[in-house]
Amino acid sequence: MIAFLTGCVVMQSQAAPMPEMMSRADWGAKPPVLKMEPHKITKITVHHTGVRQDPDRDFVNKLQGLQTFSQREDKLADGRTKPQWTDIPYHYYIDVNGEIAECRPIELPGDTNTSYETLGHALVVVEGWFPLDYFNIRQRRSLDSMVLWLAGKYKVPSEDIQGHMDYAPGETDCPGTSIHDHLPTLRAKSKEMYGQ
Ligand SMILES: [Zn+2]
Repeated sequence: MIAFLTGCVVMQSQAAPMPEMMSRADWGAKPPVLKMEPHKITKITVHHTGVRQDPDRDFVNKLQGLQTFSQREDKLADGRTKPQWTDIPYHYYIDVNGEIAECRPIELPGDTNTSYETLGHALVVVEGWFPLDYFNIRQRRSLDSMVLWLAGKYKVPSEDIQGHMDYAPGETDCPGTSIHDHLPTLRAKSKEMYGQ
């Protein structure tokens, strides 16, 4: 009887819970500065910040600095000028310690310095320049929980969990090899969890 019961237990696949994160209010975000049409999330796209990890700088200070840079016209490292953006170009930021912060409101499409359409993409950025930096276990755990939560919430098929370079080939190596190489594992987890 016990064997029969055990054999009949069906595991219900549950949606991944929302990971713990700092809200915009927690880090003192300013409101978005430009008016934008909202979008509907259909994809999840992973980035790296493209600058070296800075374990000594306070996370709130990083976020505020990135928002100030994002919300004004400014020069990029390669000499090009970026326009004023409404907010931080990404929706979620994972720092060097795996801490997560909410950045641009998810209902607003992201921004990019490359030529891909950000409409419909939930953008998650990981602090670091990979593979020069080490994609550490805390960052990987946070990336996994963030992506699996978003995939469940917005019913994003696993094949639409990609890296920036998949949409802008030849223009960027973002999110770097170590993160990009991890994405197939993440897609498989998502498929196992949500059946798509
Ligand atoms: Zn990117």
